Amino acid sequence: MIWYPYEQMKTMKQPYRIVDAEGVYLYTEDQKLIDSVSSWWCMIHGYKHPVLTEAIKKQADRFSHVMLGGLTHDPVLRLSEKLQDFLPEDLDYCFFSDSGSVAVEVALKMALQFNTNRGSGRDMVLSLEHAYHGDTFKTMEVGDDEDYHFAFEEKKDVVHIPTKIEALEEAFDKYHDRFYCFIVEPLLQGAGGMRMYDAAFLKRARELCDRYDVLLIFDEVATGFGRTGNRFVADLVCPDILVLGKALTGGYIGHAVTVANHKVFQGFYSDDGRQALMHGPTFMGNALACSVALKSIELFEKDNYMEKIRNIEAVTRREMEGFEDPQVKEVRMMGGCVCVEVHDGAVLRGFQQFAYERGVFSRPFLKYMYAMVPYVIKEEELVRVLDVMKAWFRK
Ligand SMILES: *Cc1c(COP(=O)(O)O)cnc(C)c1O
Repeated sequence: MIWYPYEQMKTMKQPYRIVDAEGVYLYTEDQKLIDSVSSWWCMIHGYKHPVLTEAIKKQADRFSHVMLGGLTHDPVLRLSEKLQDFLPEDLDYCFFSDSGSVAVEVALKMALQFNTNRGSGRDMVLSLEHAYHGDTFKTMEVGDDEDYHFAFEEKKDVVHIPTKIEALEEAFDKYHDRFYCFIVEPLLQGAGGMRMYDAAFLKRARELCDRYDVLLIFDEVATGFGRTGNRFVADLVCPDILVLGKALTGGYIGHAVTVANHKVFQGFYSDDGRQALMHGPTFMGNALACSVALKSIELFEKDNYMEKIRNIEAVTRREMEGFEDPQVKEVRMMGGCVCVEVHDGAVLRGFQQFAYERGVFSRPFLKYMYAMVPYVIKEEELVRVLDVMKAWFRK
């Protein structure tokens, strides 16, 4: 049997069974649903996109996968060149892996070894309160969310701060000679509750990291490819290491990349074999994933996705303006993300089924009802999603 994610299997409600999917729609035997979650935020072009499906089919006719140890191939070469052009400044060195969590692990290992390679004994990581960086152990350690981690408590070398400049300065005052990196989900903290904060915080972080020689890591697994209304938050403030996942392959196959800048890469580049990065996931640089990622980025550029995201934000602001309810604590919006936070999570119980009956798939968690729609959504479909969210409070 299937062991489902984040579920108490004993009390779990039956999941909806999907039989087909196209554009923004998921189909069950008896319902057609707008996917307001974009399959955990990755399906930015919608389902069954002809260009992406074709890219996979074409590559599968050649070969689906070869290892990247001792071998290389066109799809991975072309994708790394594309990313080099597409990403800001000297974020040019692409280390591929099969999921966002692993790519964050790689970023943390990179940062730590960058320091050991130069003989530094720094031993601490700075990260944010309510951070989410994945479900593997080190990513959980730099994460900070009781609801995901309570069963695995053990934190020694990680300092968590709120997204306040004073807290940032205080942490650097105290530990600047011990931090080897500062890892953040920039501007939008997703799984920690769709929390939004200001770019000024990141600018200050960049200054302090420069002053004290600390590597700045942006985990843009969720925020990358337009979700915040910026292509990448790295376009505003440039990190030393950037992590991309989720939307990288347009949601088609799990793949992720850890991209380092020149300085980080140079920290490993030497005649000493022991200074190499000792990591290598079996499926890194998978040819199907790279082929589809390349096409996904081409679509993103060619079909002017940033304009689509601006429209999503404008329609969302128009529709949610003035929305209030005694049960609602706050409505937050940024780019292609809207979140309705309630005072008491119990209020959201039953919302998923309510939305299902009205043709929308939603998956609220804890105190958060949210939408992160595929960017190809039409205005009337987006309005429908937002209407269903509002209707729950008026029922
Ligand atoms: C989803 C997510 C991850 C983990 O990615 P997986 O592919 O699920 O392992 C890491 N960081 C952030 C910010 C995420 O949203």
